[in-house]
Amino acid sequence: MITIQSLLNLKDNYAWLLRDQASGAVGVVDPADACAVAKHINANGGRLDLILLTHHHRDHTAGTDELRERFGARVVGPRAAVARLPVLDEAVGEGDAVRLGDAVGRVLDVPGHAIGHVAYYFDMPPALFCGDTLFSLGCGRLFEGTAEELYGSLRRLAGLPAETLVCCGHEYTESNARFARMVEPDNAALAAYAEKVKALRAAGKPSVPSRMGDEVALNPFLRAPDAAAFAELRTRKDNF
Ligand SMILES: [Zn+2]
Repeated sequence: MITIQSLLNLKDNYAWLLRDQASGAVGVVDPADACAVAKHINANGGRLDLILLTHHHRDHTAGTDELRERFGARVVGPRAAVARLPVLDEAVGEGDAVRLGDAVGRVLDVPGHAIGHVAYYFDMPPALFCGDTLFSLGCGRLFEGTAEELYGSLRRLAGLPAETLVCCGHEYTESNARFARMVEPDNAALAAYAEKVKALRAAGKPSVPSRMGDEVALNPFLRAPDAAAFAELRTRKDNF
């Protein structure tokens, strides 16, 4: 069993803290802000064993070197981005396993937003750490890959169990909800979900993690019937 907690980094980034209940091992995904993460770690036992990086953008990696030095954490990141990442202890790709104490996560290659973007999937409880590939009600921009690649990556993620916690890299849900509602103005379930998100944000609470089942039902980028429709939607969102 792992427990999961989001930690706001910078303006709207999330670093994700993972704790393996059995061993007490602690990991963090995409630490942008070393101070914010170190403060949390020091207030919760002072242990950081593992740093998982999803892709090379600085707003996901900037705290890595300092945290590695301070806590002796092992750093794991995508093999295909190794030249652009902080120093890694282990480079990983599709199908590799990452171990946090007794918990084992699986690596998925999810190119599109960046070349060398990976996601990490743990199954106790099912939780996906997907960086900037999938957001709640949205998806990452196409910076380096093709629409086909990012659509393929999203379709793979959509195949994970419906109860999977989607632990994404940014708090973009409210703005994504506005776009989604423009795409599907008559979707009552989407309207209700958007209201829920609005209330959470008004109360200063994170809107994520979401559930994969809700994303499959409500996220327009997962609902696009093919890569061409997805590409058109992505362009519309870029200009939204
Ligand atoms: Zn990014």
